[in-house]
Amino acid sequence: MTSTTKESKAELPLLTRTGKLVLTVDNSNETPEQKSKREKECKRCEDWKDEIIQKNTMVKTLLGAMKRAGCNFEKKHFRCVPCDNSGSGGFSAEEGIILCQNHFISRPHMEETVVHELIHAFDYCKYNLDLTNCKHHACTEVRAASLSGDCKLMREFLRGKFRVKKQHQECVRRRAILSVKYNPSCKDEEQARNAVNSVFESCYADTTPFGDHDRK
Ligand SMILES: [Zn+2]
Repeated sequence: MTSTTKESKAELPLLTRTGKLVLTVDNSNETPEQKSKREKECKRCEDWKDEIIQKNTMVKTLLGAMKRAGCNFEKKHFRCVPCDNSGSGGFSAEEGIILCQNHFISRPHMEETVVHELIHAFDYCKYNLDLTNCKHHACTEVRAASLSGDCKLMREFLRGKFRVKKQHQECVRRRAILSVKYNPSCKDEEQARNAVNSVFESCYADTTPFGDHDRK
């Protein structure tokens, strides 16, 4: 992410929704069919990106709030790339938001990814996140999972984890731990769980820059 008000920080881990590093695909040996598929996916991702930036209310709210906080995050900071793992996107201060063009099952799926990663970008801008700090990372994952729609009922249902009571909170907690445990600064699942539990209440309650009614 570029910003006029902050120094760039070297060697931040690239956060992804699965916590794994986003690795782009080597195109050098692709067949004509693979090339045409990749180009189609790229075009679809670019088209959806334009529409999402222009029309998605949560995206517009986040971009506006970042601008007011001194971080000019623009279209060029979202990059559509082919990825070779199962993640759908990632954020780092250096690379901005990576969108895995070959992993989106639908436009709503891409919209959720954009919102999730933008919450990391917003938190980095506004709260001066230190992503080598396990609790900082835990907090932004709790907020991103909670606010982006990752844990909307239907997606949870499709994952086979449907339960009524406390379903949303449990989903947020589980997904935050899943992301944090891959941060090299957080060592293992137990440390990730401890970090998420220690910040959960306050970070789950923090819906900035949205009102509470925006939670999905
Ligand atoms: Zn995340």
